[in-house]
Amino acid sequence: MIDTPAFLDTNRPDTPNLVVEQGVVPFYLASRPVRGRLVRPGVLTDTLLTRHDNPDVVLRLAGEALALVAGLASALKFKGSFSLQAKGDGPISLLVADCTDAGALRFHVRSDDEKVAALLRDHPHPTAAQLLGGGYLAFSVDQGPDTDIHQGIVEIRGESLSDMAAHYFTTSEQHACWVRLYCHKGDAGWRAGALILERIATEGGHTSDDAPEDGDDAWETATTLASTLTEAEILNDSLSSETLLYRLFHSEDPCIGHPRALAFGCRCSRARLAGILETFPTDDLDHMAEDGTITMNCSFCNHAFHFQREEVGRDAA
Ligand SMILES: [Zn+2]
Repeated sequence: MIDTPAFLDTNRPDTPNLVVEQGVVPFYLASRPVRGRLVRPGVLTDTLLTRHDNPDVVLRLAGEALALVAGLASALKFKGSFSLQAKGDGPISLLVADCTDAGALRFHVRSDDEKVAALLRDHPHPTAAQLLGGGYLAFSVDQGPDTDIHQGIVEIRGESLSDMAAHYFTTSEQHACWVRLYCHKGDAGWRAGALILERIATEGGHTSDDAPEDGDDAWETATTLASTLTEAEILNDSLSSETLLYRLFHSEDPCIGHPRALAFGCRCSRARLAGILETFPTDDLDHMAEDGTITMNCSFCNHAFHFQREEVGRDAA
């Protein structure tokens, strides 16, 4: 491979130009107070996860987080990025996953691999709660500089990330939300998925026999049907999302909306990392340089950026 000359290496790093056209499929159930999204990033999951060398149990949780933010971001009207941040005192101290309004996904996870190994000795299949420990979960919408970040924070509650997200929505939103997240490494690599249902308010103008109890029944039926989705089904690349949704909800008259694309979406740039380096004291920069070169890895996509020592810092030429 030929190294990109420094003068060309100014914008996006050489990351996969991968777009999954039908990454998120929105749907609703006719005459039922239920809408949802089926998230299947397909091969994109493998591309995102394999750029990191964390243990598999850590990447598995990251894959679930990616599917979750992809599904939630697609339900919002915003310009910018929607992110999930989990901070705990467990083997994973930080997990960040975000998705832009255009469906660009990325994540960053910080784990203590010795603590992960110790946990695995007693618990070969650790839960999200065991991996994250006690801490909090924050969901935020960042619409860029000069705008307020809208953030909601809850304590981590529940065993799985699905439970934690559902807990967040039951405490912060007005309506019920049902979430199931999936991630598994199989023969074709990593795959992840999410099925999210929301109970929506029934609008006025319905017939008088449309009592609230009917809405309760319809919601319960929808979540019961959704629970029958298996990991093997949602992670199977050869089953279309439409097929899956009809298979699950055919008795409830599912209506499929316009699918949304998901893509590899790191927003790192050489200029941004150079800006960070400029804030470091000269001594630190000297210490970081090896054979005159400072290497900075993007914590999201793990791309390595190389800077000549004399290019950066207050004493730069
Ligand atoms: Zn990056």
